[in-house]
Amino acid sequence: MENLKEKLRLVISKIKRAPLIDEKTLNEVLKDIQRALLYADVSVDIVLRITENIKKRVKEEKLPPGFSKRELLLKIVYEELINMLGGETRYKPSIKKGQLHIVLLMGIEGSGKTTTAAKLAYFYKKRGFKVGLICADNYRPGALSQLKQLGEQIGVEVYGEENRDSIDIAIKGIEFFKKRRYDLIIIDTAGRHKDEKNLMDEMSKLVSAIKPDETILVLDATIGRQAEKQAKAFNEIAKVGSIIVTKLDGAARGGGALAAVVKTGAKISFIGVGEKIEELEIFDPPTFVNRLLGFGDVKAIVDRFRAYEELDKKRLRAMGKGDFTLLDLLDQLMALRKMGPLRKLVELLPGGYNLPADFERVGEENIKKWIAIMQSMTKKELLHPEIINRERMMRIAKGSGTSIHDVKALLKSYRMTKSYIKKLSKQRFKKMPYFSK
Ligand code: GDP
Ligand code: MG
Repeated sequence: MENLKEKLRLVISKIKRAPLIDEKTLNEVLKDIQRALLYADVSVDIVLRITENIKKRVKEEKLPPGFSKRELLLKIVYEELINMLGGETRYKPSIKKGQLHIVLLMGIEGSGKTTTAAKLAYFYKKRGFKVGLICADNYRPGALSQLKQLGEQIGVEVYGEENRDSIDIAIKGIEFFKKRRYDLIIIDTAGRHKDEKNLMDEMSKLVSAIKPDETILVLDATIGRQAEKQAKAFNEIAKVGSIIVTKLDGAARGGGALAAVVKTGAKISFIGVGEKIEELEIFDPPTFVNRLLGFGDVKAIVDRFRAYEELDKKRLRAMGKGDFTLLDLLDQLMALRKMGPLRKLVELLPGGYNLPADFERVGEENIKKWIAIMQSMTKKELLHPEIINRERMMRIAKGSGTSIHDVKALLKSYRMTKSYIKKLSKQRFKKMPYFSK
């Protein structure tokens, strides 16, 4: 993953350093993203989709007040990478104490099943579950002793027998743990890649014989986009509940493997990030992307967008109730700055409304100042300006590099605009026949 990380970080710093985010920069950035992803073995269709999405969103998405196009682009890249990896919802284990849950691990040989079985057992044991392991692999000599050794290391009981049919072992093992009131049984299976048909047959027999609560496919990240084919093949013989992608540490094609799995619609529950028993993590696309891009400023920018979006929702709700908040004012000022002189705009309105004198005098300088002031306010202050007392004014003035006088002036204009808008909407209603009574 190091390479993808390095390449994506270059993209991020390019966006940050570009003098201007214009068509040319955008196209360059998109090319770099494509190269980075293709290098990580992400399939061409996924790569094209993600860059098309970015392009489209940059063009279409509204720039909220106080944000730059550069920040919008960073946010969109971040979100599209997360989407490529399955979105923001992370896997929630459905295992409950006192209720037996049987997990069957499948996957071809060498994918990391046995290691993952032990890692999973350790993961749940640490969370207070009573976990047992079953070795249903008796094709590979030493399979049982490998699992037993791991079980000993983590203090988890392992059930297994040499020279016995794997289905019989699984059934007996389940009985063994059931009697002892275990919460979770993890069954490790065999996987002979050379004889794929045979493996699939055995898996499908095993699934119908033991009816696991959950089947998990273990996939090796180093196979890159081939993961799609494997995921589909296993899904055909037994509905795959989730996928664990192993060996993500150091797998150059890891990004491709993850994207390919997501594309099949399967859920990635965990990822293996090392050989050690504790190197298993619940897969969380945002955390993963943060790690790729480097924790820090991209995340901070995205968080600011989220905070604004949340605020905007509240504002719309307030507006629906006929309230005009400071945030609406901020929004309109930002829009006005883009549109040109206020006078011109007002002249275009039907009915030839007169703006209050104070509003007309607001020049570009004032607008900038006001925006700075409002950006120093808390959410609560923006939505409920009546709470802004002298103490708050002082803090806001300091935060925005203005004076209390400026803050007061803004609040005064806000109140005037608010009452003006109230009047305006009453007038409008009067003009409409249905409301004239
Ligand atoms: P199985 O044949 O599917 O049971 O695979 P094993 O569990 O025996 O693992 C095969 C090899 O992959 C072993 O050498 C493991 O140590 C290694 N392995 C498994 N998971 C990971 C992982 O997340 N990271 C790394 N680096 N190696 C892993
Ligand atoms: Mg094994």
